Amino acid sequence: MNCPKCGKPARKIKGAYRFRESGLGNVFLEGAETYKCPCGEEVVRIPRMAALLDKIGEAIVNKPGPLTGPEIRYLRKNAQLSSQAFAGYLQQTPETLSRWENGRRAPGRDTDLLVRLTYAALKGYGNSDRILKALTELSGRLKKKVSITLRPKGREGFEYAYT
Ligand SMILES: [Zn+2]
Repeated sequence: MNCPKCGKPARKIKGAYRFRESGLGNVFLEGAETYKCPCGEEVVRIPRMAALLDKIGEAIVNKPGPLTGPEIRYLRKNAQLSSQAFAGYLQQTPETLSRWENGRRAPGRDTDLLVRLTYAALKGYGNSDRILKALTELSGRLKKKVSITLRPKGREGFEYAYT
């Protein structure tokens, strides 16, 4: 594997890859092929991207902690909605949604749940019982900082864990 930037050989890196391209700072991938060049360039090969992005969305929806601004933005974008449209579902102005996404204001608990349910409905999650159960359980054990680690599972999919 040669560096696409300078052409020198890049070496393979072991361990989980922090998936910053997702716009999230707390998502890590196991099983991704990562290369690092002495020039600083990092190259990562991520298989099954569409399935991965949806699995991250699912992990965020079920996360045992309050949604962060970047997570709200991630859900909106992965549902392929404009700020205008998503704010409309939440019965908020796009300005308010923007403040949440930028972390300048935290949404209340009701809105946090509404964001999760809206995303789940838009994505057509079949098992709404499971989501509602997860949300009920959430109330008892909210953690402030939660990291999400994904690893390949089977031929097509991924599984996630919280740390
Ligand atoms: Zn390089």
